[in-house]
Amino acid sequence: MSDISDLVRDSIKQITPYSPGKSSREVKEELGLAEIVKLASNENPLGPCPQAVAAMQQAAAEVYFYPDPLCRDLTAALAEKWDVDPDGILVGRGSDEIIHMMGLAFVNPGEEIIYCDPPFALYPMTTAIMDGQPVVIPCRDFTHDLEAMAAAITDKTKLVFISNPYNPTGTIVTAPQVAEFMDAIPDYVIVGFDEAYCEYVDDPDYPNCLDYVRKGRKAVVLRTFSKAYGLAGLRIGYGIAPPEVATALKQVREPFNISSIAQAAALASLADPNQVQRSFQLVQDGKQYLYEQFEQMGLSYVPTQANFIFVDVGIDSRKCFDELMRRSVTVRTGDIFGRPTYIRVTIGTMEQNRKFIEALRDVLN
Ligand SMILES: *Cc1c(COP(=O)(O)O)cnc(C)c1O
Repeated sequence: MSDISDLVRDSIKQITPYSPGKSSREVKEELGLAEIVKLASNENPLGPCPQAVAAMQQAAAEVYFYPDPLCRDLTAALAEKWDVDPDGILVGRGSDEIIHMMGLAFVNPGEEIIYCDPPFALYPMTTAIMDGQPVVIPCRDFTHDLEAMAAAITDKTKLVFISNPYNPTGTIVTAPQVAEFMDAIPDYVIVGFDEAYCEYVDDPDYPNCLDYVRKGRKAVVLRTFSKAYGLAGLRIGYGIAPPEVATALKQVREPFNISSIAQAAALASLADPNQVQRSFQLVQDGKQYLYEQFEQMGLSYVPTQANFIFVDVGIDSRKCFDELMRRSVTVRTGDIFGRPTYIRVTIGTMEQNRKFIEALRDVLN
């Protein structure tokens, strides 16, 4: 009998499965805890806006129809919001799917995909699925090393991914740095600007990468409803690219990739003027509080432009994780990012932040 592992494509065998961490329910059951403070996945504790919930309820009654394959209403709303050509907009099952489509549409076996180490999980995964060649550039001072990334480009390079803000550290690359990078790279390289956390940025040097798209550069700006819009469980995000780039991406899109419920919720979320502002403010307040607490505790952290903080707890991050979990708090360990004494903690509600700090003080004492 043939062994299934002999039948699996070689490039798929090397994929390390995504490690999601335990679900809140598993942790609760295992440790007999009543309530978990989940600060592990950069979700938005405010949740979706009420209009989005109402829109989902309304759409639920009509799910026996297939969804609009072109997401026309949402695409029109996004084109207006960002002042871009609607033909350049592509809606995906989270920005994850857009990353995957970039691989499917553009990467021939052996072609190179450049990204920063530690990477967002989807970049190596897409590279492996496509039989691409990963070119992994270590981050410098917790930030993308754009000079080294530009220098790594060869005539085999197809895609470059830049997570901005950068997950897991929360740093950004600035407008002048990106401008220099875009000047340096050849025209055949397609750049994915992964801006999942852009709504949380307050640094005035943050680049407006949509301008590259408007100028017709080969760039895809990736945005999501998973973070500031509080819709992570629905799976909806989008890419904005010059129309000819989007046309290539649409070739590999499944016809009904976005559910009608997700389309309705995203559209309603865009119409709420307060959702992003409330989420931004929550993160600003939480950030100030957590910085102060870390400083009092003598812990160094990476100043963040996102809704999470990468902090050096000075002990083995897995041990810290286990001990925090016993105290009903979950975070991400830094060892998976190559930093064994760091944890990545999502900024939560003030109550969650206080519970986290209380638990962390207890663990470190
Ligand atoms: C959370 C996140 C995303 C968003 O993923 P979705 O598929 O839209 O939920 C994209 N990129 C990075 C770096 C992220 O951290």
